[in-house]
Amino acid sequence: MVTAHDITDRVALIELPLPLVGLTSVNCYVVRGADETVLVDPGWSSPDTDRTLCEGLDLLGVDIRSISRILTTHHHWDHYTQGITWQGELGIPVHLGREDADSIHAWRELDGAFPRQVDLLRRAGADLLATEVASIPVEPHEAAMDFDVPAAWIDDAEVIDLGGTTIRAVATPGHTRGHVCFEVTEDHLLLTGDHVLPRITPSIAYEREPDRRSLTSYLSSLRIVTEMPRHQMLPAHGAVGGAAADRAAELIQHHEERLEVIRDLVSRGRSTAQEVAAGMTWTRRERSLHDLETVHQMTAVLEAAAHLTVLADDGALVLAAQDGIDRYAVA
Ligand SMILES: [Zn+2]
Repeated sequence: MVTAHDITDRVALIELPLPLVGLTSVNCYVVRGADETVLVDPGWSSPDTDRTLCEGLDLLGVDIRSISRILTTHHHWDHYTQGITWQGELGIPVHLGREDADSIHAWRELDGAFPRQVDLLRRAGADLLATEVASIPVEPHEAAMDFDVPAAWIDDAEVIDLGGTTIRAVATPGHTRGHVCFEVTEDHLLLTGDHVLPRITPSIAYEREPDRRSLTSYLSSLRIVTEMPRHQMLPAHGAVGGAAADRAAELIQHHEERLEVIRDLVSRGRSTAQEVAAGMTWTRRERSLHDLETVHQMTAVLEAAAHLTVLADDGALVLAAQDGIDRYAVA
C-alpha cells in the first residue's frame, strides 16, 4: 500500500521505501502549478522506488509525462539517485545544489569508500579507526548505482515559477556542502530535506568531499530557518508539520550544548577529536564511542572534530598541529 496524499492544493506527499536499517522511508513531494509539476527528492534508485512512485503519482492523478523537472535537496542516494535514473530513462532534468558537485565528481575520482575521511581521522588522532575505515570497500552494488551529474545546478535564492505556485531555493550547507531547502512561497511551506528533521539530529559533512567548516555552515543554515517563523516543515524523513523555525532552534540548542561539553572535556585535558569523542555519549541511546560500529565511530569522531573547529574559530580554544595531529587547548 502506497502512502500518497495532498498536503495543500499545491503540494502532495508520496512516501518511498528505503533499503536501509533504521531509516526506512523518504518523503517525496509533488509540487503543482498551472504550468508545471515538479518532484522533490524522488528517492533511492530501485525497482521498488520506481513502482511506488508510479503508484503514488497515479493515486494523486499526476501523469508522469507532465513532470517537467526533478528538484533534489542534496546528492545522498536516498534523495537523488532515482532522479538520475529517470533523468536517463525519461529525460526529466534533475536539479541539484551547485556546491554538491565536488562530492559527485569525487565519487569517480577517488578510490575507497571514505577516502577523505581516512586523512581527517588521522588528523583527529584516530589512527586505528582510520586504518579500519581505509579497508572498507566500495561494494559492487554501490559501484553500479546510478550516480551522475544533474542536468542543472541550483543557486541560492533561485526562483522557479510553476504558474501560481512559486518555489524558492534556500541554500543550507552543512549536512552536505550543496544542501538546498525549497520554500513553497504561497503556502508558507519549507521542504527541509535533511537539513531540519523532526526527530533525528542530521549528520554533518557525510560526503565524499567534506567541508572542514561544515558545522559553522550548518549552524548558520539553521539560523536562516529560525528567521522563517511562519513556515511549516515538510522534512525528507518523518512526520510533516510543525514550525520549521522551532525545530531549527532546538537543533542549534543541541549543538550549543555539545560545544559546551566539548570545551569542558578539553579544559580537563582531552586534546584530540578522538579523545573528545571517546569522552562523550552518542546516539539517542547514549552509547559510548567504542560500542558504535566503525562507520558510526567515524562520523562521531569527525563530528567532534567539527565542533572543535567551531570552538577554535570562535577563539574559545587554540589549535596546534603536532606530528600531523590537531591538538586543542583552552585559550
Ligand atoms: Zn536522507
